[in-house]
Amino acid sequence: ARLKEGLSKTKNSLVTNLEGIFSSYQKIDEELFTELEDTLIMADVGVETTTYLTDQLRETVKQQKVSDPAQLKPLLIGLIRQVIEGAGRKQFNFDARDKVLLIVGVNGVGKTTTIAKLAARFSDHRRQVLLVAADTFRAAATEQLMQWGERIGVPVIHHQEGADPAAVVFDGMAAAQSRKSDLVIVDTAGRLHTKVNLMEELKKVRRIITQNIGGRQLETLLVLDATTGQNAVNQVKVFKEAVAIDGIVLTKLDGTAKGGVVLAIAHQFQIPIYLIGVGEKKEDLQEFDALAFTRALFE
Ligand code: GDP
Repeated sequence: ARLKEGLSKTKNSLVTNLEGIFSSYQKIDEELFTELEDTLIMADVGVETTTYLTDQLRETVKQQKVSDPAQLKPLLIGLIRQVIEGAGRKQFNFDARDKVLLIVGVNGVGKTTTIAKLAARFSDHRRQVLLVAADTFRAAATEQLMQWGERIGVPVIHHQEGADPAAVVFDGMAAAQSRKSDLVIVDTAGRLHTKVNLMEELKKVRRIITQNIGGRQLETLLVLDATTGQNAVNQVKVFKEAVAIDGIVLTKLDGTAKGGVVLAIAHQFQIPIYLIGVGEKKEDLQEFDALAFTRALFE
C-alpha cells in the first residue's frame, strides 16, 4: 500500500496517459507508437530505453498478429518487467553481518536520510551498526548524521569539519573492529562541481576501507534522486568511472512523476536497484522488486 501511494504521481501521469492511448486508438498504427514514445520519454524513461521498449512492442505485435490496442497494455507491462529484472534480481540483505556499506552520491539526493533508514532497519534486525561521517566538507553533514545516530541509537564516528575523510574512515574501521560492529555505513561527500577531487577522494576512502576491512565485505551503494530524472542516469555514468557500484538506491520516488527513470537506470546499467525511497520517514525505504513495482503502477 505504501509503495502504491508512493508511486501515485508516476501512476497518475505515465499510466493514465498510456491507458488513454490504448483506449482511444481503434487500431495499432505508427501514430499510436509515436504517441507511446512521447509519453514514455515525458515520464523520464529516456530515449534509449523508450526506443528499445517500442521496438520490442512493434516486433511482438507483428509476430503475434496483435490488432487490438487494448492488448498492448499487458504486453508493455511484460516488457517493462523484463527490462527491470534484467538489471539483476539480487535482493538487499538486511540480515547481513560483516559488511561495510560505502554510500556515495551527489549532495541533496538523500544520502544521509538513506543511511539513517538503513541503520534503523539493520537495528530492527538486531545488527550492531556503526556510522562513519566521512563527509567532512560540510559541518552540517556530520551534524545531521549525529542527530540521526542519536535518534536511532547508533554510534557515529566523526572528526572536525575539513578533516581528511580518509582519516575518519581509518578511525571508523578501527572502531568497528574493537566494537565488533556487524555493519559499518560510511557517508561521503558529494560535491560534483569538483568532480576530479571528489573522485580521487572516493578512491582513497575506498582504499582505506579495503586495507582495514578485517574480513568484512565492501559494498558500494550509489544514491540517486528520482526527481532529477535523466540527471540521475548521468550520475551513474560519472560515479561508475570512479568506483565500482554494487547497487543503487533510488530516493524520492514519492515526490515525482518521473518514476520512469527506474526503467532507464535498469536498462542502461547492469547494476541492481536494491532499494527505493518513498518518503522521509525511516520506514520509507523499501526493497525494490520488479513485480511489486509494475503491479503498484499498473494495477
Ligand atoms: P544528502 O545531502 O544526500 O545527505 O541528502 P539528505 O539525506 O539530507 O536529504 C535531502 C532531503 O531529501 C531531505 O529533506 C530529506 O528528508 C529528503 N528525502 C530523502 N529521501 C527521501 C524520499 O525517499 N522521499 C522524500 N519525499 N524525501 C526524501
